[in-house]
Amino acid sequence: MTFPIFRTVAALRAQVAVWRGQGLRVALVPTMGALHDGHLTLVRQGLKKADRVVASVFVNPTQFGPNEDFAAYPRREAEDAALLAGAGASGLYAPSVTEMYPSGFATTISVAGVSEGLCGTVRPGHFAGVATVVTKLLLQAGPDLALFGEKDYQQLQVIRRVVRDLDLPVQIEGVPTVREADGLALSSRNAYLTPEQRAIAPALHGVLTALAERLAAGETAAVLTAWGRDQLLAAGFDSVDYLEVRAAEGLAPLERRSEPARILVAARLGKARLIDNIPA
Ligand code: AMP
Repeated sequence: MTFPIFRTVAALRAQVAVWRGQGLRVALVPTMGALHDGHLTLVRQGLKKADRVVASVFVNPTQFGPNEDFAAYPRREAEDAALLAGAGASGLYAPSVTEMYPSGFATTISVAGVSEGLCGTVRPGHFAGVATVVTKLLLQAGPDLALFGEKDYQQLQVIRRVVRDLDLPVQIEGVPTVREADGLALSSRNAYLTPEQRAIAPALHGVLTALAERLAAGETAAVLTAWGRDQLLAAGFDSVDYLEVRAAEGLAPLERRSEPARILVAARLGKARLIDNIPA
């Protein structure tokens, strides 16, 4: 049987309704495509908790800033479909931009608090774009469960907030970051790195790991993040957008060292802007 690709909300809903009628649990894995093993791990994790997994591939224009890589973002639908079929997904939802944003589209979901700071400062409007498209995807597919990577930790927190605030009837599952053997988090944007830059990139995870250890040993976050920035620049990164320690739940500034924390970083290397985070 050929692997199903749904292009319209109606086609997706018709299929989900059939599965529902059969009493099956459905999971959704939203992506922007150029799939790698991080995405496929979300699919495999979905299959442990649901009977059918649909992945969406939609390069969402509204979450890219005017000077960002929307046009250059890799698009490889045929390869993505083959990878999804191999991982056990039951279909791909690949709507066009006009299917997602028909003429006259005027609604934006914006999430205060958790969208601010970190990537929200450097990418104004980004999380409103994410929150709007993810809300639409969840309402279009109506899954029991949707899976997101901790790789985009602030995004995951924004989505959890939207689902709670709007009473969306879906369970959100966060999946730990999948990494290369040298620690670099898998990302579709790693394709932008030259071989020299690829050799520098694992310093991002290396610095996060060192920071987590030194934080646990009692050093202060302010001293450590200043040290970490210097380390990244010395390793060859062009600039550091942020390197911060935040509360793991909700990402507020850390008040007590005893609460679960997250160290988050974004840094630029050539054409790539790489992000990563780890628990602390
Ligand atoms: P993207 O295609 O980059 O928008 O990512 C789609 C989903 O895959 C998001 O929930 C990401 O957090 C997740 N994801 C991306 N990279 C990884 C990774 N290395 N490990 C786990 N999940 C990931």
